Amino acid sequence: MTAIVWIRRSMRKHDNTALVQAAKEHDEVIPFYVVDENYFETADLGYPRVSFWHDSLKELKEILQRDGQDLVVRKGKPLEQLQKVIEETDADKVYYNRDYSPYARERDQKVENNLECEVESFKDLVMFEKREILTNSGDPYSVYSYYSKKWFKRDKRRPEKPEGFETPELESDEIPSLKELGFEKPEGTEVWEGGRENGLKRLENFKERIWDYDDRRDLASQDGTSKLSPHFKFGTVSIREAFWASERVKARNPNEDDSGIKTWQEELAWRDFYFQMIWNFPYTVDEPYLEKYGSIGWKSKEEAPERWEAWKEGKTGFPFVDAGMRQLKQTGWMHNRLRMVVTSFSSKDLWLDWRDVHEYFSKMFIDAEVSAMVGGIQWAYSIGTDAQPYFRVFNPISQGQSHDSDGEYIRRHVEELENVPEEYIHEPWKMPEQVQEEAGCIIGEDYPEPIVDHSEQREKAIKRFEEAKED
Ligand SMILES: Cc1cc2nc3c(=O)[nH]c(=O)nc-3n(C[C@H](O)[C@H](O)[C@H](O)COP(=O)(O)OP(=O)(O)OC[C@H]3O[C@@H](n4cnc5c(N)ncnc54)[C@H](O)[C@@H]3O)c2cc1C
Repeated sequence: MTAIVWIRRSMRKHDNTALVQAAKEHDEVIPFYVVDENYFETADLGYPRVSFWHDSLKELKEILQRDGQDLVVRKGKPLEQLQKVIEETDADKVYYNRDYSPYARERDQKVENNLECEVESFKDLVMFEKREILTNSGDPYSVYSYYSKKWFKRDKRRPEKPEGFETPELESDEIPSLKELGFEKPEGTEVWEGGRENGLKRLENFKERIWDYDDRRDLASQDGTSKLSPHFKFGTVSIREAFWASERVKARNPNEDDSGIKTWQEELAWRDFYFQMIWNFPYTVDEPYLEKYGSIGWKSKEEAPERWEAWKEGKTGFPFVDAGMRQLKQTGWMHNRLRMVVTSFSSKDLWLDWRDVHEYFSKMFIDAEVSAMVGGIQWAYSIGTDAQPYFRVFNPISQGQSHDSDGEYIRRHVEELENVPEEYIHEPWKMPEQVQEEAGCIIGEDYPEPIVDHSEQREKAIKRFEEAKED
């Protein structure tokens, strides 16, 4: 009998749970991918992510073909295309890996309800999902520290190789080129190449540096984090492969201080934590987890167009914030410290609506993940689960001084500030006129004055939160 493995975001053969299961139960397996061109026309997507996806899909097909198998690609709507292939092949079962956002749940439910064939879904994207880790009274966790204790204690599955299988001869559409899908590389964009080979290289390279993760992960100019997030997004590397790779590093060096490894594994636990949050509290995609802040009066981008543009384009006059927003525009990725700083700034300093921020990040991030994004944004806005308390407001200047003390990160991304001396790099508006001239950076002409007074905005924000809390 024949099985279909509907591949969506687990773009790998190795340790792909649905594929592993299908190959155990069937000799003939059809790895199947549907390209919904309509989606590319209507969704507003940034080039780095689409390009990463494209590389990964092409490479998956090559890897399967190298092993005498294939990835069958069809253009159209998933339900219709799956139904067609079931009819063409008489397949008796469809396998797929579960996803957890409200959008994915609805899509998958519709497919399950309408396919005239047995369908089974699997946990693959995460170590623990849905309601696997619960409080002692049986509720989902909304506080990370308690959740993580259980996450670390639980046994974790190891990666698994699929058994051999054959893919029957079937018509497959060409993977459309990026141009055909309507995408062209914008000038000045740096592209991260996708695909499993790059993901595995990245993981190998990070294993050398994982010991220092604790010390370097917050230094914006350094390559101190794994940069595996787009690989987890597209499943070119599995979460089990990454976790167990870090465990092996630890086991090989039993006498070393392993706090860097533990901290990195904590991030994988955060990832699971936010996946279970979006599953158990799906309303948080549109509403704050702390519902009392639902009507706190953020300003939409239409209501505050100048602030919105300045933030989005990295022209707020606060160098660390601007560097973060420009890194995003240039590469599709932003350092975690910066994600926190720019989002705190859009909230407490600019009072911009978090939903607009979410929409922009969803378009731009190479690793856009609804769960982590909603979690991160609501944390910075002090409206989420386990959030930053509203009275603890990030200072955009001292954040830069602490996490980019010599300004290397700022200079890399904000070219106007390239020649500004170190003593002024975090507050360029303090440069005397002569220094501005020498640095080729006239404030107000080459680089903006700060668009707000941080101390004033901080006080206003705290007051608004206090009023909302009392309502
Ligand atoms: C406002 C905001 C928005 C964010 N949006 C996303 C997003 O869309 N997609 C995304 O993957 N991450 C998001 N994060 C989390 C985090 O910033 C990124 O996962 C991280 O910067 C990716 O870089 P890395 O792979 O080098 O991470 P590493 O530091 O090497 O961490 C390893 C992995 O752990 C996971 N991880 C790390 N931090 C977090 C976190 N705080 N929450 C959940 N998972 C985490 C990621 O999968 C990451 O690849 C967001 C954080 C904030 C504050």
